[in-house]
Amino acid sequence: MKDQHPPIREIGATHSFCFDCRPGLRCFTHCCHGLELELTPYDMLRLRRATGLSSTELLAKYVIIEQLPDDVLPHCFLTMVDDGTARCAFLDRRGCSVYDHRPGACRSYPVGQATIWTGENFERRFVLVQEDHCHGFAEAPVHTPLSYLASQDVSAYETFNKAFAALTQNQAFKEGFRPDPEQCELFINTLFDLDRFAEQVKNGEIILDVPTPAATPTDEELLEYGFRWVEHQFFGSGQ
Ligand code: SF4
Ligand code: SF4
Repeated sequence: MKDQHPPIREIGATHSFCFDCRPGLRCFTHCCHGLELELTPYDMLRLRRATGLSSTELLAKYVIIEQLPDDVLPHCFLTMVDDGTARCAFLDRRGCSVYDHRPGACRSYPVGQATIWTGENFERRFVLVQEDHCHGFAEAPVHTPLSYLASQDVSAYETFNKAFAALTQNQAFKEGFRPDPEQCELFINTLFDLDRFAEQVKNGEIILDVPTPAATPTDEELLEYGFRWVEHQFFGSGQ
């Protein structure tokens, strides 16, 4: 019988569904092809950790930066390999080669979530992506969106993605603020190229009226500082 569910539908936080994903399913890794997988700054931090590449190398080798005429800010997408199947560049014969550090969207699939910044607080909305090729829905474990996300260890992703949403959905954009090309470049160089930003902090090129990160800051501390720096450069706030 044909699947009666639309492939993507909004679900509530307590909606329950059956799902499991594991090697051995005949669809294993089918979902790692032909994706338009947008990366967040925290995804980049984790991929940098997984690959051992610098963020500058990672950007050059695995990321497509795109800004369409109507886009307020540039977007970073993970490269798909031009091999006729458009497989993810991190997919190898055994599966995901960056599994422990895979992007947030890969972790949460088939649950999609949007973090909407209302100007006062965050609203979480969920969708279930139920594609015909995915056999995971025939498996037994029962989840809700929240229990599934918890099982995929997404909490650090959520923390940083909230900070990213607060920046990219800042009220100033709704009021017409448009970053100029130099500010767009700074947005990428700071948040998606952490090694370059670290070098600028070390050289004293970044001066904010907040405590600078420790002499050897963690990647996470640097990224938090990066959010403040971009906010300051865009809106004069974040200090
Ligand atoms: S069960 Fe779904 S998510 Fe898992 S490998 Fe198969 S298609 Fe991908
Ligand atoms: S990063 Fe890993 S899980 Fe995500 S699409 Fe690529 S191979 Fe698949």
